[in-house]
Amino acid sequence: MANEKFVSQIADIESDFPQWYTDVVIKTKLVDYGPVKGTMVIRPYGYAIWENIQREMDARFKRAGVENAYFPLLIPMSFMTKEAEHVEGFAPEVAVVTHAGGAKLEEPLVVRPTSETIIGHMMGKWVESWRDLPLRMNQWCNVMRWEKTTRPFLRTSEFLWQEGHSVYATGEEAETETLNMLHLYEEFAKNVLCMPVLVGRKTEKEKFAGAVATFGMEAMMHDGKSLQAGTTHYMGQNFAKAFGVQFTGADGTLKYGYTMSYGVSTRLIGALIMTHGDQRGLILPPPVAPVEVVIVPIAQKKEGVLEACNSLATSLKEAGIRVKVDDSDNSPGWKFNEWEMKGVPVRIELGPRDIEGGKMLLFRRDTCEKTEAALGDVEGVKRLLQDICVSLYDRAKERMQSRIVNAESLEELLQGVNGGNFVRAGWCGERACEDKVKEFAQATARVLDEKCDHPTCLCCGKPAKHTVFFARAY
Ligand code: ZN
Repeated sequence: MANEKFVSQIADIESDFPQWYTDVVIKTKLVDYGPVKGTMVIRPYGYAIWENIQREMDARFKRAGVENAYFPLLIPMSFMTKEAEHVEGFAPEVAVVTHAGGAKLEEPLVVRPTSETIIGHMMGKWVESWRDLPLRMNQWCNVMRWEKTTRPFLRTSEFLWQEGHSVYATGEEAETETLNMLHLYEEFAKNVLCMPVLVGRKTEKEKFAGAVATFGMEAMMHDGKSLQAGTTHYMGQNFAKAFGVQFTGADGTLKYGYTMSYGVSTRLIGALIMTHGDQRGLILPPPVAPVEVVIVPIAQKKEGVLEACNSLATSLKEAGIRVKVDDSDNSPGWKFNEWEMKGVPVRIELGPRDIEGGKMLLFRRDTCEKTEAALGDVEGVKRLLQDICVSLYDRAKERMQSRIVNAESLEELLQGVNGGNFVRAGWCGERACEDKVKEFAQATARVLDEKCDHPTCLCCGKPAKHTVFFARAY
């Protein structure tokens, strides 16, 4: 009975997925709403997930040879207007500081929505000769984009992210890096978030303001909608020309550099919640779970139980596993529910009888199956965590693959997205047809497929230039 009551606190995942999401992020204490509309407070349990994401991602950047730096939050308004497409794209959502120190500022300052402009400006100062290239930097920071409708992690006025920015001597090198970073993100999504993604080029309509080409990775959420989980951008010489990023080549002539940028944000937390979660709440992939293993003592007042739990915790910690012993005054049943809702990958139950028999009970959150293991079998726990990673990924991948359908017409596309699918269809390349899809089915072009195997555009019937993955998106 108690169990049923507890579960019913979370809205039904199938019939009311938006409310399920809100219930889960609030009740598991990942976030709370900030006092300013559209802002979120990331609570310790949520921030610990972000720290794990950061650590894993940062290690990958460092291995790739990228260095971290930090640029100011405030950007002169005049910088924003230097790249025409960029200012047009971001103008509706920038927050502007007009007063400071009790007086009106001579020039208004923009709170960064992204840092291409200020980093372009600094690159212009730092890059002089071909010997200074490539220059590859990343920063971990917050950005602000004023939003009308907001949801924790998915869309908030202020969010945390990383933004990488590089400048190269040639366009080929910058383009290669744009794809390398896209594949770094794809590998990260697979191995750290256990999340399958589609990667590919974005259409002109969906590309970053000021870019020559944008590439994205898209993940399928539980409701069949798509979530853009990361993007990389090739800028050509657009920003280099706007900010005077010039260098003297080996041949002595003055040339403009080629820039690119890439970013992922706290949106990734929303993505993993909506990829893996179930009716009981969160299911966290082991590599980012703040607690990978929770040990729940049974009859914890009995002599020797807590000692055995703590000693097991020590062995697991020594093996590099994030572990917690829940020795609070709540009943074991309450603790089971709480940690299941919070998505801890493995629970170990340990009571007097187990200790006597040299056993422990393992519960895996992804399948909710229980197995027995020898008490203190650290290797067994490690293997189980590995196995959970594989099974989470496989399960999500199967779901995504089973929900990719093909369409030859707008009607078929509408049916497809109504059924919670990604829809592959031919497209002539014209903006008018892309707009028509949005109007007719509230679906957008997520990424272009590498191969084009649809002969005609689903909208106008002219020969197709691309096969596109369309979906409704967050
Ligand atoms: Zn068309």
